[in-house]
Order: sequence, then structure tokens, then C-alpha cells
Amino acid sequence: MSLDLVPMRVGFCRAPALASRRDAGLMPMEFPAGAALIRHPDQGDILFDTGYGVAFWQSTRCFPEMLYRATTPAVLPVTEELCSQIDVPPALVILSHLHADHVAGLFDLPVMAPVLTSRAAWVAMAKGGPIATLRRGCPELLRRRLLKLSPRFIEDSATVPTPAGFGALAGPFYDIMGDGSLLAVPLPGHGDGQFGVFIPASRDFLIADAAWSRAALRDNMPPPWLVLAQLGDADEYMHTFNALRTIMAARPDVRMWPSHCTEAFG
Ligand SMILES: [Zn+2]
Repeated sequence: MSLDLVPMRVGFCRAPALASRRDAGLMPMEFPAGAALIRHPDQGDILFDTGYGVAFWQSTRCFPEMLYRATTPAVLPVTEELCSQIDVPPALVILSHLHADHVAGLFDLPVMAPVLTSRAAWVAMAKGGPIATLRRGCPELLRRRLLKLSPRFIEDSATVPTPAGFGALAGPFYDIMGDGSLLAVPLPGHGDGQFGVFIPASRDFLIADAAWSRAALRDNMPPPWLVLAQLGDADEYMHTFNALRTIMAARPDVRMWPSHCTEAFG
């Protein structure tokens, strides 16, 4: 089966380079919000993450959510809006985790698509109050819009054997389309319940925020510990980060797609 992956940049934010790798300085740099369209020959177009959307600005107008917008100012040029880049409504939207820069674009789709995410991410998001949720990167108004959806959960899919060279990840690998075309795997340590998706046919591995860039993986240069601890569980993040480096060595044919990597998403 052949599957094409179309990378898309759906807006970007500015933050100190230091936030992405511990050897960088404080100069602000642009971090693209990456999303990807996976063209499945039988099951239609599948969207992995959605980047920024109008809902981000709507949900960060007031205090305390405005702090989110102030600390990581985001821009969404018209040409990068999700609707400017997608011709046909996707048959499925996969949300790697529920941070605003991965989910806000969902509400810009002209027709709401079925959503697949992890139960772990959903349960954590659903039980958080407004402040706790802001700390978790999903402002309250956005959280309320998400809660009106009825997603399917990755963890309800059948599991499959670990692909060759991927043993450093604890797994399990979930067959989310039922045909072996897309395998979702937990990438713990960033946010709650984060998953990545490996596409065996094209050997693309969408790793969301498990690393900030391909270069950071190559150079073994994760973000500072404080940043990791603020955004999730630093120990788990480092375990996942090291596992991805092991996979890079074992499977040099696999292309990694970190969501905020300029090399990957421009
Ligand atoms: Zn994130």
C-alpha cells in the first residue's frame, strides 16, 4: 500500500531558542506548528494534528489565558490556515495530544471530522479546572469546545507487534486504521497521553513534541530540564527522547517529523 504524507505548516509561534535545546541562546526564533495530511488510498485523507486556528485567539483573549498568548506569541498567515491548504474535508483527524497549538485548527474545518486521540490525554484534559488546564497548554474555552466532541480512542484499537528497530519504545503499537497502515505509539513525557504515528509504507514517523527538531535528536540536545518539567514529566521525556535516538540509529531509513521542526515543516 502506498501512502503519501503532505507536511503542512499551520502558523507559528515565537519563543526563545533555548526552549527547544539546552545549548541555544535566548534569541527568539520561529517555531512552526506542524500538521500532516496522510493520503490513504482506501480510507481518505487523514489529518495528523491541526496547528493554530481562530479558536486559539478566541480562547486567549482574557486573563489568565492571555498569558499563554503573551509568552508564546503566535501568527497564522492566511496562506497557512488549515482551510487554505486542504481541498477535501479529512475523513479522520488524529490529535497527538491536546495542547492548543495542535488542536485549535480543528475548529477551522468547514465540516467537523471524526476525531481520534488518546484516552489518557482526554481524561487528563476533561478533569482539569481552568488554571490547571492553562498550565497544561489548553485554554478553558478551547477545552470546552473539545469536550463537546465524541472522539474515538487510540487505546481501543488492536495492538500489533513492535516494528523492527522500534524496541526502545515501550509501546504498545496500535493499529488505528485496522489495516496496518498507521501505527500509533505512546510518546510519554510531553503533556498528557501524547502519541506518535508511524507509517510503515512511507517510513515516516510523526513524533509530535517528543523532540523539538531533527537536529536536536541528531545532536542529542534536548530542551532544558526546567522546560521539560513545566510541560510534562522530564524523566519520561528523556526516556522517550533517548528511545527516538536509538530508533534513528537502528532505522536510518525512517524520517522523523517533530511538530515544531523548521527542517521538517519549514
Ligand atoms: Zn505540545
